[in-house]
Amino acid sequence: MSKVIGIDLGTTFSCVAYLEGNRPKVIPNLEGQATTPSVVSFTSAGERLVGNLALRQAITNPDKTVVAVKRLIGRKFNSPEVAEARQKLPYQLVEAPNGDVRVVVDSAEISPQEISGMILSYLKMCAESFLGESIQAAVITVPAHFNDHQRQATKDAAKIAGLEVLRVINEPTAASLAYGLEAKKNAKVAVFDLGGGTFDITILEIQDTVFQVLATNGNSYLGGEDFDNRIVAWLVEDFKKEHKIDLFQDKLALQRIKEAAERAKRELSFTYESEINLPFICSTSAGSRHINKRLTRKMLEELTGDLVQKTIPLIEQALADSRLEPEDIQEIILVGGQTRMPLVRKKITDFFRTKPREDINPDEIVAMGAAIQSAILKNKRAELVVLLDVTSHSLGIETENDTYQQIIERNTTIPTKKTMPFTTVEGNQIRVTIHVLQGENRQASRNKSLARFDLIGIQPAPAGVPQIDVTFEIDADGILKVSARDVMTGLNQEIRIHPSSGLTAGELEAIIKKHRSQPQSF
Ligand code: AMP
Repeated sequence: MSKVIGIDLGTTFSCVAYLEGNRPKVIPNLEGQATTPSVVSFTSAGERLVGNLALRQAITNPDKTVVAVKRLIGRKFNSPEVAEARQKLPYQLVEAPNGDVRVVVDSAEISPQEISGMILSYLKMCAESFLGESIQAAVITVPAHFNDHQRQATKDAAKIAGLEVLRVINEPTAASLAYGLEAKKNAKVAVFDLGGGTFDITILEIQDTVFQVLATNGNSYLGGEDFDNRIVAWLVEDFKKEHKIDLFQDKLALQRIKEAAERAKRELSFTYESEINLPFICSTSAGSRHINKRLTRKMLEELTGDLVQKTIPLIEQALADSRLEPEDIQEIILVGGQTRMPLVRKKITDFFRTKPREDINPDEIVAMGAAIQSAILKNKRAELVVLLDVTSHSLGIETENDTYQQIIERNTTIPTKKTMPFTTVEGNQIRVTIHVLQGENRQASRNKSLARFDLIGIQPAPAGVPQIDVTFEIDADGILKVSARDVMTGLNQEIRIHPSSGLTAGELEAIIKKHRSQPQSF
């Protein structure tokens, strides 16, 4: 039986691991590194590059280098998140006929699932080359706050890469699994995950082999890139003041500035001062212009302190949802590269009055946890570990007068199933529309719309008489199925929350075929 792997498909970097004996081990990429940039690039010669090769030529080929596609996967083009991404990302995005996002490369429109599929194909290939055997199945991690569309889309990406997804698990849960198996102790744990693009806080209780998530919260638009952007803005503004030139308009210069800003930020986690030198950043009739600036750790903290502060109310909410106080937390696990920033560590230590663990590699722990889970699922050894995850959003339906009726509350342990009875508002109504929503607002229109479907053929009766049972079911991957049933007639209608978004089965099949017939060039 072939080996299975765990994949942390990150916004900026991805990591793969497998279980050797009882210990999770990271699988290096073809260049021997533990993490691989989640970047795909298309060269003018028609070649497709993934990982380091793609990242290396991002400066000279910014509009055909797809970075941070995880920010787009499973999202609608007209969502606020995509609107923000469009301002930041150097490549072009368009709206798909179903409202999803497509990345434009030359004249081709490519789905984020396909781009993620290319990254996963590369990671699969690295694992096959390292382990010397073909890999068919994996556990893939996603941020805890990922909604149904984003989870479905991630699964589709894996299918494109030729991987069977054994389970989609939440990144913080995976981290706690890797930590818990190593530490083998009972504890209340906070997993603070600040990666390249997203922030998650998860509170768990580990008791022997049971890993129970108590609550989770997060911000899908808070991550390391926001820190980089603050440095970029500071450099560009300063340059504008001095030279009256707006480098935001110069794609090539901007890409160089971004890279230099990120490098300086990383350096300042270990030093107090960093030089940012960018010779020949642009040229004018009066000659070439250069950037030569000094950034100190203190200045960086002033530029980004509010971003770190933004995590605090989210931690407070997750603790309140768990009915715990900061002092109740015994272990703090840091995940994501941005947690290396000393200010982040200080804020967390001050808040919990406990130091986070120093002996855990924040870039690798999620993939390691995924590897453990993949081995458990493959060997059907569910008794080894029981993972009790939760749903990160409340889910429900729209009722009369723009009211939102929650059916499954956020932080409910999954898998879960709940049925609630509803009725008609008009006499002889033969149809009801079930509008499935996600969110916490009592006003229906202020929540996120996931799908709509009709139950047609209800037995005519006076208003308020028919009983329509609406059932929400969330599986272990966090994927939702909704059904509605007219109790009187037994008429039933059900959907997997898919049709309003994502690739259709036909589209997915066509992409898979295309990938099989065109082997990737890495
Ligand atoms: P991840 O998505 O977990 O791979 O996190 C990547 C993010 O961590 C990027 O924004 C990196 O710039 C950031 N990062 C990596 N190393 C460091 C470091 N030493 N100090 C601060 N941020 C870092």
